[in-house]
Amino acid sequence: MTTQKFDNLINGQWIAGASYTPNINPSNLADVIGDYAQADAAQLDSAVKAAQTAFPAWSTGNIQARADALDKIGTEVLARREELGTLLAREEGKTRPEGIGEVTRAGNIFKFFAGECLRLTGEIVPSVRSGISVEITREPMGVIGLITPWNFPIAIPAWKTAPALAYGNCVVLKPADLVPGCAWALAEIISRSGIPAGVFNLVMGRGSVIGDPLVNHPGIDAISFTGSQGVGNRIAQQCALKLKKVQLEMGGKNPQVILDDADLAQAVELSVQSAFFSTGQRCTASSRLIVTDGIYPRFLDAMKQRMAGLKIGDALAAGIDIGPVSSKAQLEQDLSYVQIGQAEGAVLVAGGQRLQCSTDGFYMAPALLTDTTAAMRINREEVFGPVASVIRVKGYEEALAEANNTPFGLSAGIATTSLKYATHFKRHSQAGMVMVNLPTAGVDYHVPFGGRKGSSYGSREQGRYAQEFFTTVKTAYIGS
Ligand code: NAD
Repeated sequence: MTTQKFDNLINGQWIAGASYTPNINPSNLADVIGDYAQADAAQLDSAVKAAQTAFPAWSTGNIQARADALDKIGTEVLARREELGTLLAREEGKTRPEGIGEVTRAGNIFKFFAGECLRLTGEIVPSVRSGISVEITREPMGVIGLITPWNFPIAIPAWKTAPALAYGNCVVLKPADLVPGCAWALAEIISRSGIPAGVFNLVMGRGSVIGDPLVNHPGIDAISFTGSQGVGNRIAQQCALKLKKVQLEMGGKNPQVILDDADLAQAVELSVQSAFFSTGQRCTASSRLIVTDGIYPRFLDAMKQRMAGLKIGDALAAGIDIGPVSSKAQLEQDLSYVQIGQAEGAVLVAGGQRLQCSTDGFYMAPALLTDTTAAMRINREEVFGPVASVIRVKGYEEALAEANNTPFGLSAGIATTSLKYATHFKRHSQAGMVMVNLPTAGVDYHVPFGGRKGSSYGSREQGRYAQEFFTTVKTAYIGS
């Protein structure tokens, strides 16, 4: 049986790739979703030029037409959430309900930014000089390169594309090579939305082949990147050399603090969810569980019991809690970190091994390591899989210090019934997002998203804060 070929979208045309790569289902390695085009440097150049050509008309065009197009995209994404959620689960390995949830988020993001097309405001302020007025307005940045990771195959392309278009920019999107299917489906919806040719372009391919030239292309005015810290760091340096605006969302090593006074059942549930659901492959996953002495033995027993009941299997099967790891390389990394942790003195108390399920896929039993310390690699480096470590502490002050003892600063959670500790943690956590009695992962789509320290660089994504990156400020002086 021949597999379907999926092409790049350049200047409103579907253009065959220089080559194709198979998109393989990590739950079932025999299942090929399709062959996806790999763009080459010449195709990337055409995409950037098409976006540059489309920019003058799009950036000054009718905002009602822009809003209508984004709304139409959101409506179709939401209407097809089951089908697209299934595709997402099939290519990335999230469970089908998680996939449908992510698609719903993507649809809602387009709806939200459809409204934002009409809500952009400026300021008129009096001048310090008589007879002059001052206008402060926001204008689009130009042509934006969007580079996205594999773990949110539709939500991240959506939360970069929707504000870019809403504020009048043109776009070249390069999705992760591992999961091009959802980005392609989104591009296909965008191509029928009434948005003119060249405003939105999709180029698929490897980071080194397409991502690097995209960052360095002279026609690209700004880069919005989500991915690993190593790649983000390199992109920041390249953008600095070329004085390009850049926004980076990168990794996390998110702490979940459990205090003695926490509701035990709630603490266990939110820890299991944020450490292991979506196979732990969320930048906001809590990979460090920081537990105070008084609740430690009860928490550990309850965690082990809850973990023993988790159902791991085919992402498309009903009743599954956790799907496979997304790729062979990621599975190997996850398993190796379990070994690294043990070699450093951590004790593996649950999971941590590869699993065989009914289909041949990259399955792994979620791992829980105890007796860990902040200095261990397992607590300093992002694993990006279903691997959590427990750090035992004496009380709240030590828990807060441990929570902040990390090069990352994306999300941080606390489980407590104490208003005093919750309030103090909210203020003193060095993370961009703080959760009280909630999992560290799981956020709203209409408010800012991002972190501090090594997790993020540049202005926030999502909600109306997205305008900070996707627009540039102009100050105009009007004399009489
Ligand atoms: P990655 O850095 O390997 O790749 C991200 C993207 O960059 C991909 O599209 C890739 O092709 C591209 N790329 C690779 N090399 C490049 C280069 N030299 N120049 C330009 N582009 C290049 O990350 P990944 O493995 O796809 O994703 C996992 C990472 O993403 C984790 O670190 C995770 O924490 C992070 N992440 C962060 C957030 C957040 O919002 N903070 C959200 C999701 C994922």
